[in-house]
Amino acid sequence: ESPLRLRVRVARLGTRFVLLLAEDRTESYRLDEVRRDFVANISHELKTPIASVSLLAEALDQAADEPDQVRRFAGRLSVEASRLAHITSEVIELSRLQARDALRPDVLVDVDEIVAAAVDQNRVVAGGKRVDVAVKAGTGARVYGDRALMIVAVHNLVANAIAYSNEGGRVGVGVKVEGDEVEIAVTDQGIGIESDDLDRVFERFYRVDQARSRNTGGSGLGLSIVKHTVQNHGGDVRVWSQPGRGSTFMIKLPLAETPIVAGEAVDDAG
Ligand code: ADP
Repeated sequence: ESPLRLRVRVARLGTRFVLLLAEDRTESYRLDEVRRDFVANISHELKTPIASVSLLAEALDQAADEPDQVRRFAGRLSVEASRLAHITSEVIELSRLQARDALRPDVLVDVDEIVAAAVDQNRVVAGGKRVDVAVKAGTGARVYGDRALMIVAVHNLVANAIAYSNEGGRVGVGVKVEGDEVEIAVTDQGIGIESDDLDRVFERFYRVDQARSRNTGGSGLGLSIVKHTVQNHGGDVRVWSQPGRGSTFMIKLPLAETPIVAGEAVDDAG
């Protein structure tokens, strides 16, 4: 079945009648387009590291008699290999999340605990950059969710906050209950994001500064994974930023006590 539909209109142009044909882009057609873009993006993203790997292998071959060179090229090979591994795992993660748009998590997750776990995963990198990560939690908040996915989401925000901080910077991670929601805020005092880019950072493969992001090993998928995860959990993620001063990313999730499926009221009386 072809997804292409045409809308037909007859219009009058002076003394003539003309037939206007307009393409009706149906939902499934747009989804196809999104998928095609995704595949095109992935191929594009993989090209550079793959080209580097081939070049380095060649260089390695030619430098066989020079141990210093061999070590240097081997080191760079290993960096490119980790980059490939990183991109691949993020692509897989994202496709899984997209396939699970209708996911309705029903396991109780302790928000303070997932935040602590996500921060812990970033301690070594933070230490290496002398970035101080301070956590304010202890809310006892619980949400319905997938623990592992939620750790990945918070991890990505904390990892970015550290990556885009300056050496010796400060990152704050706070958990707060507001009404029937819990807020997880990750604040840094790093490079910040220009307002033109702010709306786009959650897009797949979007990077504000390609070169800088490449140096930090970023794939441009981290925030897209955050957005999909949070939305799958009935929540939302927002960002505020001032270039040169820092950024705050905030995840909001419905507390476990409230119904998570919009439009489906929960009747306590049964
Ligand atoms: P990446 O893997 O490149 O970090 P993300 O999807 O996590 O990809 O982020 C997309 C882009 O948003 C980044 O490349 C970076 O330009 C920008 N960004 C994300 N987090 C921050 C932050 N805390 N401070 C400044 N820029 C950020």
